[in-house]
Amino acid sequence: MSNLILLVEDNEANQMLASAVLELEGFEVHVAGSAVEALDQITVRMPDLILMDVQLPGQDGLSLTRQLKTDPAMAAIPIVALTAHAMSGDRATALGAGCAGYISKPIDTRTLGAQVRRYLGTDVKDDRPRVAS
Ligand code: MN
Repeated sequence: MSNLILLVEDNEANQMLASAVLELEGFEVHVAGSAVEALDQITVRMPDLILMDVQLPGQDGLSLTRQLKTDPAMAAIPIVALTAHAMSGDRATALGAGCAGYISKPIDTRTLGAQVRRYLGTDVKDDRPRVAS
């Protein structure tokens, strides 16, 4: 089974762009447009990595990250924040919320796949390499 990426992103253009790139890179992608949808998706199948837009309608992405990190069943899922390039303050906040790192928006389609693969191989709490599935 290919790695499942949960893309939590409310912007439709970004949803389509990131999904297309990641699917071409061989990932399976589930998309959620809000925190509520993300929690529903996680219930359906546990993702291997979450790409988390910081700014979401309703509960924001970093609040959702903090929530997931307090849940023992979900705390190990690496979460990578999607932050607007200019918002450098968002990045420190993202790491503080428990994100493994961040990817700048606008999304760079040439490097997104490599960035995601890097984070998939990196567990914040466990530096041992993961066995490829
Ligand atoms: Mn957004």
